Amino acid sequence: MSASQFDLRDKVAVISGCNTGLGQGMALALAEAGCHILGVNYSEPKDTKAQVESLDRGFVNIHADLRKTDAIKEIVETAVNHFGQIDILVNNAGIIKRNDAYDFTEEEWDDVLNINLRTLFFMAQAVARQYRKQGNGGKIINVASMLSYQGGVRVPSYTASKSGVMGLTRALANEWAADGINVNAIAPGYMATNNTEQLRKDPDRSQELLGRIPAGRWGTPNDMKGPIVFLASQASDYVNGFTLAVDGGWLAR
Ligand code: NAD
Repeated sequence: MSASQFDLRDKVAVISGCNTGLGQGMALALAEAGCHILGVNYSEPKDTKAQVESLDRGFVNIHADLRKTDAIKEIVETAVNHFGQIDILVNNAGIIKRNDAYDFTEEEWDDVLNINLRTLFFMAQAVARQYRKQGNGGKIINVASMLSYQGGVRVPSYTASKSGVMGLTRALANEWAADGINVNAIAPGYMATNNTEQLRKDPDRSQELLGRIPAGRWGTPNDMKGPIVFLASQASDYVNGFTLAVDGGWLAR
């Protein structure tokens, strides 16, 4: 099999939350493989834009608060008007709130569910409708979590949302595979980003987690690069509804 199976030259990828962390790693991987990028961000993605443009790939940003769905129409229209089409959607933006289930507030529940699951669904729906219009399929990659498989501690809304992401990935794959749309997910393990800053700062919790990761280290945004290019490329055309763990062996343990 040739490397051209992974070539994404001039494909157009929409990716949420690519100013930092895993989203930035995935946006750079897609650009390195040839994609132009439409970023959807709450914070200015200056560094990502500069790095993508230094690869001679286009980068357009839409500012949006993805706790709400208002920006979705503009996101699809801008990608199509600017780049001509959409080929890849990466639903990456997500948040976590930590609190005892006894004390968890409605806001901590709603904010997390809204961005991690509700907006993710409506983004997928809007982009799949665009794929149907374009008539040649497309790729949707959702970002799940270890808490798509496990219960976690003090993160009830996050666990509910990420368990939902894995189920929804299967459900959408079942409906859209026949239209050439591949819906899959990546479940990162414990990765060194803002999302896990609190855990990494707690020496006991950090040691406990590290001791359980067979690879013996936290993951990094670079670890997402191979998996995202695989799921965004022709190489994965017969992979549907699957959640790929990128976890240094955490789930195997
Ligand atoms: P991060 O906090 O660095 O990134 C989160 C991204 O979401 C940022 O780009 C942020 O700007 C964006 N975002 C947050 N609130 C937003 C809002 N209201 N509107 C628009 N964008 C918003 O953390 P990360 O680890 O890079 O997280 C990326 C994804 O990976 C998330 O879905 C997260 O749940 C998931 N994940 C992370 C880990 C980990 O260990 N770091 C593990 C499993 C899953």
